[in-house]
Amino acid sequence: MNILFAAAECAPLAKVGGLGDVIGSLPKALKQTGTDARVILPMYKNISPPAENRSGQIKLEVNFGTKKIAIKVHQTTLPQSSVVLYLLEEAQMFGSGGVYETADATPGSSDEVNKFLFFCQCVAEFLKQKIWQPDVLHVHDWHASLTPLLIKLDKIPIPALLTIHNLAMQGLAPAQSLEAVRGNLTNQPSMQADLAKYSNINLLRQGILHSDAVSTVSPSYAREIITHEFGEGLESELSNLNNVYGIINGIDETVWNEASDPFISSHYSQFSPELKLKNKPQLQKDLGLKVNPGVPLVGIVSRLTGQKGFDLLPSIREELVKQNCQIVALGVGEKNLEDFFRSLSAEYPDRFILKEKFDERLAHQIYASSDIFLMPSRFEPCGLGQMIAMHYGSIPIVRATGGLKDTVINLADDLENLNAATGFVFEHFDPQSLLAQISRAINTYQNDPVTWKRLEHNAMVADFSWTASAQKYNKLYQKIIDS
Ligand code: ADP
Repeated sequence: MNILFAAAECAPLAKVGGLGDVIGSLPKALKQTGTDARVILPMYKNISPPAENRSGQIKLEVNFGTKKIAIKVHQTTLPQSSVVLYLLEEAQMFGSGGVYETADATPGSSDEVNKFLFFCQCVAEFLKQKIWQPDVLHVHDWHASLTPLLIKLDKIPIPALLTIHNLAMQGLAPAQSLEAVRGNLTNQPSMQADLAKYSNINLLRQGILHSDAVSTVSPSYAREIITHEFGEGLESELSNLNNVYGIINGIDETVWNEASDPFISSHYSQFSPELKLKNKPQLQKDLGLKVNPGVPLVGIVSRLTGQKGFDLLPSIREELVKQNCQIVALGVGEKNLEDFFRSLSAEYPDRFILKEKFDERLAHQIYASSDIFLMPSRFEPCGLGQMIAMHYGSIPIVRATGGLKDTVINLADDLENLNAATGFVFEHFDPQSLLAQISRAINTYQNDPVTWKRLEHNAMVADFSWTASAQKYNKLYQKIIDS
């Protein structure tokens, strides 16, 4: 089977969040099952095509409104793999900036919308010119979700699967932007309906309506998004579909491997978890925290947005400060949340620290050094942070929502499921419920080392690989081809 992935991110070349991880790893896992999965990606400013492949470049002319824009398609491979990657080079649209305009990936200005509309048109042209012919086009999130309609209008007989990685980000485009892609595009009934409802075109909605199948990244989120509470205004479109498939993400175990991670000072594994302990004092020293191997270190590696639930923390600030713990937060996002962490660290510099940046190395070090990982999301399509943390033996505190619910097993109060539990889970999105789990985790860490070791072991041996999910995608592709 041949599958073409079209997406805005692909790790390690272009990563802002979990979307990048998935596009950088699922095609590799599919390849191992015999599926030829390839990726098509805009060539952003900081990406340069490998020199040896320059001869392999193809020229394409892409219609964009009244203009014809010349682009180059570089054929290369994803680093350390044989997965083919097509990089689309065009200086102005793709080459002048990074992936998104905003650090936390919230849809930006009309320039950003135009960039991704152009990307969709490039993918359609790539398929029209038969540069490579997939059996299924697999588009991801709003950035690529106009493509299924464009290829249908071009009568290209390739079915499309849309995967929603975050329903909250839908990409609203003014009618003129769509007209600039192709004249009369907004005459489509689905677009007329958008204009009536949003006064704009909702690009994700177009993807939902014109794809042959829609999936999302965990079974729980697939059930949640057909409800009013989580549907972000698209619950009726989603519940009108035959099915919204929910396939849980995996993690790339070649990138996330505590036994060989190049960014951490002490390697360890499920067979030598004690070696993990050496990483904490190193990180405490590096970050200027008080060096104390015995104090529980709570890690946060996340976009700092309302979605991630960190707005629960300010109202329990006093109680948090009283806990015997340190917190290291790595992330950028909303000002009020950055301010909260900044004020904590200004007052208690040897216990709390915020690093406001995107830093792959530090992220690996936090996963490897922390004892506890905090991810109290309001909603969570899948979440990779908690899976990486568990893989690295850092016990997650999460809210029972979406993929967090599907991947973290709460330790029962009577410890009755100690053989299986991997973390601490709270149901209700409120500060006191979160605080109760933070206290419980810290208390268990300090007073019940036997239970803690067992949690750590369960988390580290849990299977977060892509193996099972890659097979589920293969089945879904086949179903789409057969229908
Ligand atoms: P989302 O995709 O909603 O941002 P996920 O948990 O699915 O959240 O994926 C987040 C990914 O991005 C993880 O690989 C995490 O380690 C990484 N990440 C998030 N913030 C940062 C940061 N500031 N620096 C480095 N990596 C980060």
